[in-house]
Amino acid sequence: MTFHAFAATKAKAHLKPFEYKPKPLGEHDVEIAITHCGICHSDVHLVDGEWGDWFPLVPGHEIIGTIVGGEGFKPGERVGVGWQCNSCGTCEYCQAGEEVLCAEHAPTCQGRFGGFADRIRVNGRFAFRIPERLLSETAAPLLCGGVTVYKPLRTYATEGSRVGVIGIGGLGHIALQFAKAIGCEVTAFSRSKDKEREARQFGADHFVTGKPRRGTLDLILNTAHAAPDMDTYLGALRPKGVFCQLGAAAEPLSVPAFALISDSLTVTGSAIGSPSVIREMLEVAARHGVAAKTEVVPMKDADAALDRTRRNRARYRMVLENP
Ligand code: NAP
Ligand code: ZN
Repeated sequence: MTFHAFAATKAKAHLKPFEYKPKPLGEHDVEIAITHCGICHSDVHLVDGEWGDWFPLVPGHEIIGTIVGGEGFKPGERVGVGWQCNSCGTCEYCQAGEEVLCAEHAPTCQGRFGGFADRIRVNGRFAFRIPERLLSETAAPLLCGGVTVYKPLRTYATEGSRVGVIGIGGLGHIALQFAKAIGCEVTAFSRSKDKEREARQFGADHFVTGKPRRGTLDLILNTAHAAPDMDTYLGALRPKGVFCQLGAAAEPLSVPAFALISDSLTVTGSAIGSPSVIREMLEVAARHGVAAKTEVVPMKDADAALDRTRRNRARYRMVLENP
């Protein structure tokens, strides 16, 4: 049994065809024939060696495919897999349904081979049935990008909340849609003027390329992989507002103490979502028609597609498709 994938053999290397023999199917594992895999900017960080030496590296953690075999599913069922592919199952976090916080949290494509491939094996607890109404090519990015923005929105926003989203890329364009679905007043912050028309279609009521207005927002999601000017963005929050960092900025966020103190603000972060949140997110997406806007290309073009994401050229998510 051989799986066919695309891998980088060292930092910043081009993705090339790569074959490997999978580990035997564990008692609780499922094998999935991959049809689609989205390209998240985390795949770029990994390939570029920014998150350590995981080479040879097969990226890919926005996977949709069909069950080939394994426990708990019927062959042919359509499932998705995101960033996390296993956890211990017994610690206090796993018991509470917060598997993402488990110390043994296993990432799908770090230390194991991910979704830029024809097949994958994961623990069945981390394979999620895809609601019938969702199309595979526009739903694949929900498995990582979608749940990453849905989780803080369901936690910190309600109908009528004023929500700002910084960075209208893969995560950001889905955040605009979920925020609109919840009934928020939505502001998109972007450095790319050409994204305005589509940002408004995704759900933005306001599109801002410059500085935010002071004291106007209840929640800011920063999806950019850069630290913003925290003075400016914390100044844009109303009392008790929340700034939530989602992008993997390499540099620290410098938080001004007086802004926090005087308006009782919260600066926090959030990682993907646990299985129960992923299931809920998929249902909400199906109900409200939330879907990534994708450029679908054949799996063999993985290297060029990854580079489009690297250069902020994707509109708005590259998705690889197997023949
Ligand atoms: P993406 O598709 O490349 O989009 C990122 C967007 O951020 C860009 O489209 C751009 O939007 C903006 N941006 C890029 N560089 C910037 C800079 N230097 N300064 C300000 N804005 C910048 O990336 P993505 O897939 O959405 O991922 C974004 C980040 O989230 C990555 O760091 C990724 O690793 C991380 N991530 C985190 C989690 C989590 O669990 N927290 C999950 C998935 C991904 P504009 O053109 O509109 O300015
Ligand atoms: Zn991701």
